[in-house]
Amino acid sequence: MRPSKRLDRIPPYLFAEIDKKVDEAKAKGYDIINLGIGDPDTPTFPHIVEEMHKAIDDPLTHNYPPYQGTVAFRTACADWMKERFGANLDPNDEIIALIGSKEGIAHVFFAFVDPGDYTLVPDPAYPVYRNGTILAGGIPYYMPINPQNNYLPELDKIPEDIAKQSKIIFLNYPNNPTGAVGNLEYFKEVLDFAKKYDILICHDQAYCEMTFDGYVAPSFLEIEGAKDHCIEFFSHSKSYNMTGWRIGWAAGGAKPMKALGTIKNNIDSGAFKAIQRAGINALGSPQSEIDSLNEMYKRRRDVMIEGLKELGWNIDPCLATFYLWIPTPKGMSSVDFAELMLEKTHVIVPPGNGWGEAGEGFFRIALTVDEEKLKEVIQRMKNAGIRYE
Ligand SMILES: *Cc1c(COP(=O)(O)O)cnc(C)c1O
Repeated sequence: MRPSKRLDRIPPYLFAEIDKKVDEAKAKGYDIINLGIGDPDTPTFPHIVEEMHKAIDDPLTHNYPPYQGTVAFRTACADWMKERFGANLDPNDEIIALIGSKEGIAHVFFAFVDPGDYTLVPDPAYPVYRNGTILAGGIPYYMPINPQNNYLPELDKIPEDIAKQSKIIFLNYPNNPTGAVGNLEYFKEVLDFAKKYDILICHDQAYCEMTFDGYVAPSFLEIEGAKDHCIEFFSHSKSYNMTGWRIGWAAGGAKPMKALGTIKNNIDSGAFKAIQRAGINALGSPQSEIDSLNEMYKRRRDVMIEGLKELGWNIDPCLATFYLWIPTPKGMSSVDFAELMLEKTHVIVPPGNGWGEAGEGFFRIALTVDEEKLKEVIQRMKNAGIRYE
């Protein structure tokens, strides 16, 4: 039986080749250090796990949840948004619980994109923006982000006819894979652009709480009048170490949220109520817990940047996310560098073009291993004579 044609349009998995080489290296017994995984290496905060124990023992959590999330969960999200961003959102129709933010991100395309419509997608970017577009029959228009434009897509470079045919502009600040951050001035420009062309702003906030050096990440929903033009996707995964739990939420104006909700009603039946209770508990985490997690990533960031400096790399410390986005040595492609690292140091660094063509010439490091391991990576690079020049 032939799978659908839409699957043919999903680009091949660029990490597959690397994965194969990793398996080979492991089979040879090499001590692999994997800097490829954007998944926290420390456990979920204990009070969240405790809340889950209690919730799972309560039979009231055992039946189908309400589609849009429990009232308690949506209220907790709205309260958090008010406290964190000063944003006013009605928990009744402006918040929807998600089975992890990836679920909402993938589904939003089905709510807004008809076959042949364009979406505006950064390059490089989290692959779901591109592939969600393609699965919905749409066409991604890639907006390159790079050091020259401060990793902010240049709206005036988007051709007028493409803008007119676009339904969604997807952004993600703080950014995976580049670690770049956004700012309210830029967000206001995006809002004007979105209003002019009647485009929905989708903003992925997976890393909004993973910030360093006093930086505070803004939200589109802080801007007066933005709500009806925007959906933001929030995730419990990264800042509460809850990637496996699959919980997050979408927030935005009632009209766009209704479209997303209609798609979801017809595809899933909501997140397990016990996990929603744990999610409420997570949102009440003391700031000190998030701060100390961020401190840990910041120390790792500094260890890595310091080490890379000895090897000729001059990297600006990122203000957010647990990623470093680093240029490959001159004249070396992303894939060649990743292979060199694996062969000579047994360290896995994913090639930048795995996130899009414009990621060529870069590689990404996830700071999801401890400081000792990061120092070991630098030592191995030193021993192998790998330098930036
Ligand atoms: C990790 C990640 C997500 C997915 O988070 P879940 O809530 O676990 O689905 C979304 N966007 C980006 C950019 C991410 O890195």
